[in-house]
Amino acid sequence: MLGSKRIHDLVPLNERTRMMEGVRAGLATLVIVAWLTVPATRGTSFLTLALAAGGYVAVIAIAQRAWIRQGLSLALFFGVAVMLDAAALAWASYGTSGVDSPLRLILILQLITVSLVGSFRLGLKLALFQVWMLLGAVYLQELGVRTLGGERVSFGSPEFRTVGLELALTVLVAAVTTGFAAVNERELRRRRSDVEELAALTMRLDDAEGPLAIAGTLLAGIEELHGTPRGIVVRRCEAGDYAVLAARGMELTADHGPFTAEAASLVEMVRSAGRAALLVHRQAHGDALLTHFPDGARLALVPLAIDDSAGVLIVEHPPEAGSRMQHRILALLSRYAAHAAIVIRNAELLERVRALATTDGLTGLPNRRHLDEALDRACAQVARGHGSLGVLMIDVDHFKKLNDTHGHQVGDEVLKHVAKVLDSELRAGDMVARYGGEEFTVVMPGAQGVEAKGAAERLRCAIELAAGPVDVTVSVGVAWAPLHGTSRVDLVASADAALYEAKQRGRNCTALAKTIDPSPHPVDAQVN
Ligand code: GH3
Ligand code: MG
Ligand code: MG
Repeated sequence: MLGSKRIHDLVPLNERTRMMEGVRAGLATLVIVAWLTVPATRGTSFLTLALAAGGYVAVIAIAQRAWIRQGLSLALFFGVAVMLDAAALAWASYGTSGVDSPLRLILILQLITVSLVGSFRLGLKLALFQVWMLLGAVYLQELGVRTLGGERVSFGSPEFRTVGLELALTVLVAAVTTGFAAVNERELRRRRSDVEELAALTMRLDDAEGPLAIAGTLLAGIEELHGTPRGIVVRRCEAGDYAVLAARGMELTADHGPFTAEAASLVEMVRSAGRAALLVHRQAHGDALLTHFPDGARLALVPLAIDDSAGVLIVEHPPEAGSRMQHRILALLSRYAAHAAIVIRNAELLERVRALATTDGLTGLPNRRHLDEALDRACAQVARGHGSLGVLMIDVDHFKKLNDTHGHQVGDEVLKHVAKVLDSELRAGDMVARYGGEEFTVVMPGAQGVEAKGAAERLRCAIELAAGPVDVTVSVGVAWAPLHGTSRVDLVASADAALYEAKQRGRNCTALAKTIDPSPHPVDAQVN
């Protein structure tokens, strides 16, 4: 009887039933107040009316609770109860005081309330029921049954015109009220579905790891929700160029680009204006990013406000979805984009914080913490019997003197220079980190013996020969796993001992940790 599923969509049915209970009590009170204040409504005694009104409200309330206890359909009860309400009100108005009773307007009030609290469909059904009730009452009156109070009314009599007007008004009120209620309901349902879609997409975005994955999830989510066949998310870099974070339905990937702002002129325009735009794509526009969409595609370009710079979300409206990109969808895309922008910015901040936590601020090399973790991982591999691992401890010679002579700023420049040379000389897969002060550590998975020593010499020579702010040399200690230990502590201690030996020999040379020391203090390892 009542569109229960739809009603559940918005306000829960039990809440509406409670509201209707309040409305019922209110209407009953109104009937009593009308009797007390308007003489034309006194078609029956006050006692009869008051008992009937109070009794009716109580009976319905008891029946409702019993109904709920039985676990029967609340929607059915709601529908039946409003029809019974209409019958009770009809009796209290024209049933007692005739068709011209001022109280008959209360039926219209009930109709409006039901249309708004229940549903527009129920409102229409109630209007028809009220019409039938009135016609039935007049018909029975004609047959001689006393259904109407006051003057007799027959179909042919002039009084029937009042009834006719009454009917027309009832239907009109029903149509208007239910029409507006339907519009409201549709809009509310749509908004609710929009909010649910946004919430679902938001959760997916929050779960994605890193800016690229977030942008990819955004495009995938929009495609699922709106059937957009193609899309791109771009991020403006600090230099002002556009990097592709994700693309869908096309050849373009995050490896393409970056695109200059001049090349991506339309995207740049939308970003700098900070407002979403709809456009029909023409290759002739010459935008290097939009060229990945087919000619004639209807595109929505939505800015992603991330910090000072920003990104842009570009999606193609599905061709089968009509000729206009609905403004509602554009508003939704803007909301998705706004949330994605926050999530992307957070992910970027997290990446930056992670990088800061593992990077040395002066040289840009991995810091001690990163080194320890990497060495532990590499040692674990060797301990499991997988290959070897070379470790070099490199120390700048007479660095204190350099600082004293040229100042600490030059000293810093020298450290940066040494770091750069070491980094550029490394093989792929090797790693150099700043151990601390003017000391660096090189980790070389798979290296041992002559190979490790050769690498150490190569690095030492490279620094000796490289033109830096001030000429410097380094001394290097070399150790490797498994010969000099299979733990980070053992390997670093062995390489350190070898470095000490190199310093002893006069600096600017390389020393190799010679044998493994069976004692618990590998610092004492012999070197040659
Ligand atoms: P050796 O040849 O025996 O290694 O002598 P050294 O002077 O290089 O070694 P020492 O340990 O006596 O001095 C290291 C100096 O490095 C002392 C310290 O002030 C300097 N130092 C450490 N970290 C930094 C840094 O970040 N910047 C600068 N400019 N100097 C640093
Ligand atoms: Mg030192
Ligand atoms: Mg030194």
